[in-house]
Amino acid sequence: MFKSVLVIGHIRGIRIEVHVSWLVIFALLMFALSAGFHQHYPDWSMPVVLITALLTIVTFFASIVAHELGHSLVAIRRGVPVRAITLFIFGGVAQLSRDSESARDEFWIAIAGPIVSFALALAFSLLSAATTAISEPLSVGLGWLALINFIVAVFNLIPGFPLDGGRVFRALVWMATGNAQTGMKYAVMGGRLVAYALFGLGLWSMLALGNLIGGLWIMVIAWFLLNSAEASGRHFDLSQRLQGIRAGDVGNADIPRADQSTTIDQWVEQQVLEGGNRTCFVTENETLLGLVTLSDARRVNRDVWPQTPVGEIMTPSDKVIKVTPDTPVNELLQLMSERNLNQVPIMEGSTLVGWIDRQRLLRTIEIHLELEA
Ligand SMILES: [Zn+2]
Repeated sequence: MFKSVLVIGHIRGIRIEVHVSWLVIFALLMFALSAGFHQHYPDWSMPVVLITALLTIVTFFASIVAHELGHSLVAIRRGVPVRAITLFIFGGVAQLSRDSESARDEFWIAIAGPIVSFALALAFSLLSAATTAISEPLSVGLGWLALINFIVAVFNLIPGFPLDGGRVFRALVWMATGNAQTGMKYAVMGGRLVAYALFGLGLWSMLALGNLIGGLWIMVIAWFLLNSAEASGRHFDLSQRLQGIRAGDVGNADIPRADQSTTIDQWVEQQVLEGGNRTCFVTENETLLGLVTLSDARRVNRDVWPQTPVGEIMTPSDKVIKVTPDTPVNELLQLMSERNLNQVPIMEGSTLVGWIDRQRLLRTIEIHLELEA
């Protein structure tokens, strides 16, 4: 869902990107703000209206980045790496690379965003008051920024997952019960309630108030929140059930290997066609030298397969991402999906003791879960 993004820069190693859907919000805001300014301040010239609207929206956009940076910087300080901040049609999202390990971390990471928005609301309202005598457009723009940041802070504090308030709520239940799972259960329930309430509000504003666009917009947000709450719940459930399972439990000890002098031709004939393995570990004694896959072979002209040893086309060992038998499966799954890996060697020191194959891993996990249930 976060594809087709435009990277606009980096702050402290965090990628800041805009999803194309954000352009819709930009256009809507530009239209609504210009129309509003024009209606309330008829003496403003058109260029003043447009420039005030544009600068106000750009600053609003920076305020959302600041809100997400609030989450991100606290996360980084608490040892949770952040990949990117993405702005999309429903606002912004900081992509944390994993869940918090403690209720306290979760609480502070979640609350940091709304705190930044409240602080911005306060700062903009003071600036707005201070500039009334200097420039009306400036003061009006700052006033709007104060209001919108206040709304962002309050809306995000609604206690339903995945909103910040839902995370805060989850952290508080987690703190009170000492159980992360109970916290998540209630936060997802809260998320569902909020989504249904918003859905009702949207319907009411459409039917009773005749506000078609506004009502529909609220319903779309409700639908988005409901989906996110359910997906977060499922993801959390799965990672809870996989806790305690390690790479060593799901790895394959039957390792397809070859010497580095084996030619591509021999390898394809003996292992790919007969054994059905698209991957092969190039070893010398028990030491891993590299990894060769069918796509490596396909990059070489078939005519030279009989003369080319796999040692020449393999990914050398130091470039291969490895795990140990103790690596938790949750971490392994995340690693494989983030780096788009299809196979990972399991190493004990420099000795190859097994390997993970993505398809087999998913099947093995399914069986583990079935046995557990
Ligand atoms: Zn937030």
